[in-house]
Amino acid sequence: MVELLGPAEIRGLAAELDVRPTKKLGQNFVHDPNTVRRIVELANVAPGDVVLEVGPGLGSLTLGLLATGAHVVAVEIDPKLAERLPKTVAERGPEVAGNLDVVGADAMRVTRGELGEPTALVANLPYNVAVPVVLHLLAEVPSLRKGLVMVQTEVADRMAAGPGSRIYGVPSVKLAWYGSARKVAAVPRSVFWPVPNVDSALVAFERGDTTASEDRELLFGLVDAAFSQRRKTLRAALAGWAGSAERAGELLTAAGIDPRTRGEQLDVHDFARIAAAR
Ligand code: SAM
Repeated sequence: MVELLGPAEIRGLAAELDVRPTKKLGQNFVHDPNTVRRIVELANVAPGDVVLEVGPGLGSLTLGLLATGAHVVAVEIDPKLAERLPKTVAERGPEVAGNLDVVGADAMRVTRGELGEPTALVANLPYNVAVPVVLHLLAEVPSLRKGLVMVQTEVADRMAAGPGSRIYGVPSVKLAWYGSARKVAAVPRSVFWPVPNVDSALVAFERGDTTASEDRELLFGLVDAAFSQRRKTLRAALAGWAGSAERAGELLTAAGIDPRTRGEQLDVHDFARIAAAR
């Protein structure tokens, strides 16, 4: 039996460690076991899975993941939290303590050699770096096939947005290059301590079949350029990327796209055709 952490335990651990949660590290800890159970269920984690958890914090979600019989590789930047985690797991789920590896590192810089071959990313992400962390891990860890991450609602909407909407942008296209993302549930701010000033949502992700990484660098540069001046036509917005507005116009035409179009109207396949034309 693994015992999950409730409000009293979260406060107790924070007091013991003298943790003063910082906004900079997005330290809002889940103190509601039902939320943890819901995340684990939606993530569809099974015994034998190797789960990558970013930012285990005081261990709320880590314990829930371990309770399924999965192996967890937890990457935590705060040394105090990383050091305490194995003890928390040993106290509350001694039978699963051997299934935990803690990596004290920055998830935006961690390398695949430090992580082994995790197959799923399940995390309550630090909000200010949620998108760069997900993109870094998808690029760095090819074994990751699926994921379920909790992020700020607005970020969840952007991650899952399709062409034509106001919120469609760089995160939407880059994630679409890796696979498919969809918002699967809303989570109220009340499940956290301290209570953040935003609501959250869960985004499920599945990796598709992608092409070579050189294509990715070129494509991602194009996407950054297209959205850096999103009010301009693509011909104008891509002038720097292509070398000139004229050349941008030629590439767009070669890709079968009207040069007067704006980036927010194109899907990832359209962008891939433009990149391929260069
Ligand atoms: N998983 C815990 C939970 O649900 O209660 C904590 C989630 S809290 C929103 C985010 C966690 O990510 C914190 O523990 C914070 O220290 C950690 N963190 C922040 N930036 C990080 C980074 N760049 N790499 C790894 N961990 C990070």
